[in-house]
Amino acid sequence: MTSLVASKEVQTLLDRASGIGEAGGNARLKAIMRDLLESTMSLLLDRASGIGEAGGNARLKAIMRDLLESTMSLIEKHDISESEFWQAINYLQNGAPEFNLIVPGVGVEHFLDLHMDAKDAAAGLSGGTPRTIEGPLYVAGAPLVESGANLTDDADEGEVLTMSGAVRGPDGEAVPNAILHVWHANSKGFYSHFDPTGEQATFNNRRRLKLGADGRYAFSSIMPRGYSVPPGGATDVLMKALGRHGNRPAHVHFFIEAPGYRTLTTQINFGDDPFARDDFAFGTREGLLPTPDRSRGDAHITFDFALVRARSNADAGFSTRSRASA
Ligand code: FE
Repeated sequence: MTSLVASKEVQTLLDRASGIGEAGGNARLKAIMRDLLESTMSLLLDRASGIGEAGGNARLKAIMRDLLESTMSLIEKHDISESEFWQAINYLQNGAPEFNLIVPGVGVEHFLDLHMDAKDAAAGLSGGTPRTIEGPLYVAGAPLVESGANLTDDADEGEVLTMSGAVRGPDGEAVPNAILHVWHANSKGFYSHFDPTGEQATFNNRRRLKLGADGRYAFSSIMPRGYSVPPGGATDVLMKALGRHGNRPAHVHFFIEAPGYRTLTTQINFGDDPFARDDFAFGTREGLLPTPDRSRGDAHITFDFALVRARSNADAGFSTRSRASA
């Protein structure tokens, strides 16, 4: 057992998350769930620090594992909020431009999700589409358009992607007046606003879709490609030193905001991508891995989002993470 897992804070978190100490429920299931959560944390640390990979520097891996464990312990010990976390990362980022890529790469952004999941479970909040990492490439101010829109402004030879479904609440009710923020890379794996070739229009593949009373959405776009961290950059150097790769599977990011519901930060990763289950950023999660249906030509994804009701205004809003704008 690692010292993080052994710490009082994490032991309490695991007990609470698995319902140990609650009168009701299935005792055997609770015990299994507790062991499962415990092993997940150790596994995350091993994978993030490249333990088990053949290449890389063994001493660096061992140090990195302890560094990550300490960072995660701090999150637990001080119950660090999303906003506090990103304030600190922003500070470090000012001195090191790839810091916000290193943070998902070493699994700490994913750990923040696990921390929030555990808090929700302890508070009796469950269900809904799983949250997953935002990543550093959102740009505020994308055009607000009707559902059904095309997201792609630029000429792109890639495959057409269409996506549709509904946004529902915890009782299966349609969520009215939601705004679905969508952003993804182009067919070369580059995001507008951050494209090193400078070729893309400002909001290419970025929109905010205004949904109606029925909560249904649809859009068309060009299939994104997975991407790797910038070659030779700080993240790439670290990944290589850990014997790891820096690839993400093709994916589409979402925020969903709706009055009375919690803002959801999530993404789908394409289940047929070679890196679908080996995402360097730990952004893929069960339930978020749809495989496109090509039986009618274009790639189509049907995906329903489930939101959780907000318990307070703070609960409903975005974190105050600093984001790019254009
Ligand atoms: Fe991304």
